[in-house]
Amino acid sequence: MKTQERWHTVMQNNYGVPPITLIKGEGIEVWDEDGNKYLDFLGGIATNILGHAHPAVIKAVSTQIKELSHVSNFYAHPPGVQLAEKLQGLTNDPRARVFFCNSGAEANEAAIKLSRLTGRKRLIAANGGFHGRTIGALSITGQEAKRAPFEPLLSGINFVPYGDAKALEKALSRRTAMVILEAIQGENGVVVPPNGYLREVRELCDEYGALFAIDAVQTGMGRTGEWFGFEHEGIRPDIITLAKGLGGGLPLGAMITLGDRTPSFKPGEHGSTFGGNPISCAAANAAIDFIVKKELLDKTSIAGEYLKRRLAKIPGVEAVRGRGLLIGIVLESNIASAVAAKAMSNGLLVNAPSKNVIRLAPALIVTKKQLHDFVDLFATTIDQVQNG
Ligand SMILES: *Cc1c(COP(=O)(O)O)cnc(C)c1O
Repeated sequence: MKTQERWHTVMQNNYGVPPITLIKGEGIEVWDEDGNKYLDFLGGIATNILGHAHPAVIKAVSTQIKELSHVSNFYAHPPGVQLAEKLQGLTNDPRARVFFCNSGAEANEAAIKLSRLTGRKRLIAANGGFHGRTIGALSITGQEAKRAPFEPLLSGINFVPYGDAKALEKALSRRTAMVILEAIQGENGVVVPPNGYLREVRELCDEYGALFAIDAVQTGMGRTGEWFGFEHEGIRPDIITLAKGLGGGLPLGAMITLGDRTPSFKPGEHGSTFGGNPISCAAANAAIDFIVKKELLDKTSIAGEYLKRRLAKIPGVEAVRGRGLLIGIVLESNIASAVAAKAMSNGLLVNAPSKNVIRLAPALIVTKKQLHDFVDLFATTIDQVQNG
């Protein structure tokens, strides 16, 4: 029996039954159980920043697992401190301090707990935003359908329209502990806020003495052509949360505090047994080194511009939005899930975060030829769904 036919007899149904079973990957190509090959333009949901089976990651992980794999947070280990140093360097802030965990939700949980140390209790987040599935992270997720079955959630949370600084100003008060926003709303269909929005939010948070957290779980680690996805606004948030691309494909999350007004956990106030384990940190170090050495940030910006330019010309595409290699293709009608399914049968992995949007988040190592092949096949796919 095929693997996905066994799925429903043993697995919770929270993902539904997956349509295919993947068994092998190399670069941005993956193969399923039946030997079909796909161009992976979803990248494990913006996670496989260097693609599948990247030699630098394999080498770092293999070397590390032979030396030391898990020690708990009672002891220091070199890959963890090295990674924190690298992340501090990427933030350009010597006061940056890092807490490691395993996922995006956990990184945001850490930020929520940290915000309580200000003595204030209220949080502001954006409609449509996504911050994870645990109770705390879900409480700040502005998507009613995901929240409703699990209420009551945390209290004291205000949701404001994303991209609207005036609405945020109305919601802010001296009781606001933290404002948390994505630099681009990934799960909501790659929604890019207007230019200047993040800067205005920064100024408002300063005015009201609230922390400003950027959830860079999806936009981080070079995906947008910048390290964290907010740099084009020239701002510095108080907190950055990371996961997805951080571990080079391995599970790893981080919460980074910046500046000198952000509170700091005291010993015993927070923790994670597996968080920042040596293997994941070794993979992350290798991925960051590779991105720097191969100048992948610039290449990501160029690749994104190329994709946007070509995708926008496809009949049936209304607009293309995003930054770098986080792209939302807005379709003229609500056929995104049919397009994603057809794309799969044509050998392309993409997903449909909303009814009329297809999301792309390929690995940053994607080649010009792969981009070209993708666009051709994607245009055929849309044509088939619309006219076939
Ligand atoms: C995926 C995502 C999360 C949740 O990350 P998990 O690792 O699934 O917990 C949080 N925030 C954003 C912006 C995300 O895209």
